[in-house]
Amino acid sequence: MKTIGLLGGMSWESTASYYKAINERVKAKLGGLHSAKICLYSVDFAEIEALQHAGKWAETAEILAQAARSVEAGGADILLICTNTMHKVFEEVASSVSIPLLHIADATAQALIRDEVKTVGLLGTRFTMEQDFYKGRLIKHFGIAVLTPTADEQALVHDVIYRELCQGIVSAESKARYLEVIGNLHQRGAQGIVLGCTEIALLVQQPDTDIPLYDTAEIHANQAVELALS
Ligand code: GLU
Repeated sequence: MKTIGLLGGMSWESTASYYKAINERVKAKLGGLHSAKICLYSVDFAEIEALQHAGKWAETAEILAQAARSVEAGGADILLICTNTMHKVFEEVASSVSIPLLHIADATAQALIRDEVKTVGLLGTRFTMEQDFYKGRLIKHFGIAVLTPTADEQALVHDVIYRELCQGIVSAESKARYLEVIGNLHQRGAQGIVLGCTEIALLVQQPDTDIPLYDTAEIHANQAVELALS
């Protein structure tokens, strides 16, 4: 079994989901007392969040590149950035190590293609919904059409991520508002919804709606296990 390297702590609430999903998948595949070999570097999210909102992405890239080198030195064979947003600095992190870095949007696109989903609604941080680094990849590399929420809805989705989910707060009110946004995207033509922020599955899960949801953290974690066991 290969060792899975994780760059986590963004937020730790979702890194815990990765840790659990990876171990559960390894157990399901190998049984008994098997568990995943994981090397985790967990950052202080307050530092990252301040740099994100100040637009200082190069500095976030330097923090993650250093963390990635530590994880590689710690024995990781493959690497994951456990957040969609920080894939904004994917290239910088990928070029700082010699082990493969698995892109979360590529893993998600493969799940969408498998299900023949051609148009998706994208929920995530404002950075992920507005900028090109994530949705551009889905569109250009995989030919998937991406719908994003209205400006007001985007503000709501973004605020709930930072003010609630990344701080471990899961509220019924926010869940209802997210389900409204999901319903609106579906009405506009989205066949499925990409939960393009690794905390969103803490708030909404598949039993809450008939519209297919794609939990990027789970998809990314599962892809890492496939590779680790191959
Ligand atoms: N975990 C989130 C994501 O998947 C948001 C936190 C962050 O900005 O990294 O985008």
